[in-house]
Amino acid sequence: MDAVERRAEDRAIRGEGTTEDEWHQWPGLAALPAIEARELVPRGARAVVVAPHPDDEVLSVGGLLAQLADSGCAVQVIAVTDGTASHRGSTEWPAERLAKARPRESLRALQRLGLAIEPARLGLPDGGLQSMRAVLAARLVSLLQPRDVVFTTWRHDGHPDHEATGEACAVAAASAGARLVEVPVWGWHWSRPGDARMPWQHAFRLPLSEEAVRRKRAALQAFTSQLRRDVSTGSGPVLRATTVQRAARPYEVVFL
Ligand SMILES: [Zn+2]
Repeated sequence: MDAVERRAEDRAIRGEGTTEDEWHQWPGLAALPAIEARELVPRGARAVVVAPHPDDEVLSVGGLLAQLADSGCAVQVIAVTDGTASHRGSTEWPAERLAKARPRESLRALQRLGLAIEPARLGLPDGGLQSMRAVLAARLVSLLQPRDVVFTTWRHDGHPDHEATGEACAVAAASAGARLVEVPVWGWHWSRPGDARMPWQHAFRLPLSEEAVRRKRAALQAFTSQLRRDVSTGSGPVLRATTVQRAARPYEVVFL
């Protein structure tokens, strides 16, 4: 995730968002059809996670990645931006510091998931992906293979960069003959249980092992720049308590 912005008024990202207790009390989540990691990513296929910002790879499918790491599945992570716009106006976290820190945090997080891989970094501008969708799609086409399964942020996730990345991935995956799986990240924040703005009819629930949840939680803690209060601006952590709690779910939800 990244700096709080909004695109459409009905998907505005404000405050702490819907709490995990509220989601947990809604029976609709437990009733979603289940899907296993190997159904999503069949043997011989590669999982490619396209993350608008460093941390979206863990927030979206960190648990799945931990499980795939153990099964020997090929995994690639594509970092669209280096997340340099997460602390606007900050003297503690200027863009130059974030440009170094956030890719390092992502690397550490992937190690904690059990993956010894280095993300492919596209270096596109954080906060500026809406106008770069065609460029992003073209870059992705050159990196994708026909049997890939592409995981990315849902195209109606509410954050402009997340939506642009979802849209560009849809174009690129279709062009490359790859399969696309969209994952809500900010959607959990602004939507409510049973919310008609979420495409529940396309939602599947991927159960996670205890070990996968443990690694996902540890991986999220690697994003220290996003988890601390900013003394220079007085802003709270970019990753809210609600987001951190959500990462402890024993499942992940994907849209197919
Ligand atoms: Zn993001």
